[in-house]
Amino acid sequence: MELVILLLVIVGIIVFFEPLNGLYNRIIEKLAYKKFLAHEPFLHSIISKNIRFYKRLTVEEQHRFLFRTYIFRQSKRFHYIELEEIPEMSVLISAVAVQLTFGLERYKLNYFKNIFVLKDDYHYGLYSRPFQGHVDHSGIYLSWDNFMRGVQGLTANCNVGLHEMGHALTYVNFITQTEEDKHFKKEFKNFSKVARPIFESMQTGRRNILGDYAGTNYHEFWAVCVELFFENPIRFRHELPDLFAAMKKLLNQDPIVILNTNRIKASDFFEDYKMQKMSVN
Ligand SMILES: [Zn+2]
Repeated sequence: MELVILLLVIVGIIVFFEPLNGLYNRIIEKLAYKKFLAHEPFLHSIISKNIRFYKRLTVEEQHRFLFRTYIFRQSKRFHYIELEEIPEMSVLISAVAVQLTFGLERYKLNYFKNIFVLKDDYHYGLYSRPFQGHVDHSGIYLSWDNFMRGVQGLTANCNVGLHEMGHALTYVNFITQTEEDKHFKKEFKNFSKVARPIFESMQTGRRNILGDYAGTNYHEFWAVCVELFFENPIRFRHELPDLFAAMKKLLNQDPIVILNTNRIKASDFFEDYKMQKMSVN
């Protein structure tokens, strides 16, 4: 009898885990919503000044963006290494993560409890060249100076924050499998059908808008696609239309539509088409 009960409990956990987990998350978010409303003006004041993506959203979308940013920020421990904390740091880092996952259901990158903020380029492991950021089992690492250069659009086609969040997103979906987004996982297979041949052609010396660093390995290829998708979508779509379409479907959002909807001239946003050599990790 005990064995039957035990088996029923195990089956119950397996069958109901996903819906219960979803329900639990919704309750937590509902409880947090009231507190969020008190923080909303503070988040808006920082994000509206810095995140170009946010400025192009409708008022309703901005509200949702800020709520997700609030939840994401609350769920992380930020560590500041050799630099003094300012509120912009945790807010903008959270906002960049939310930008990437804005079209997805799951957005907390929940495996990562710790985010480390460093001042500038740093050395990691046995690598001889400096890092601007990286992701490993211990957390997400970002150098603040480089992060802000990406946010401000000072580095053509590069955005180290989006790049590292791209690594973190595949990490939680495929490596730890702790926050699997059904749509993302399913569409990643379709993305790879388009992306793999392009990546492989880069191994034979073919060059394209993604730049040499994207050819390093498939992880970097993906993270660079994320940067280009947001930082230079018009040229990305023009040069690699199938890959851009696959990204659009995968992330369930289209930065070009967001641009058009809000009637901002593309020329204001994409002033610099010059490729820069990628040096992020
Ligand atoms: Zn990388």
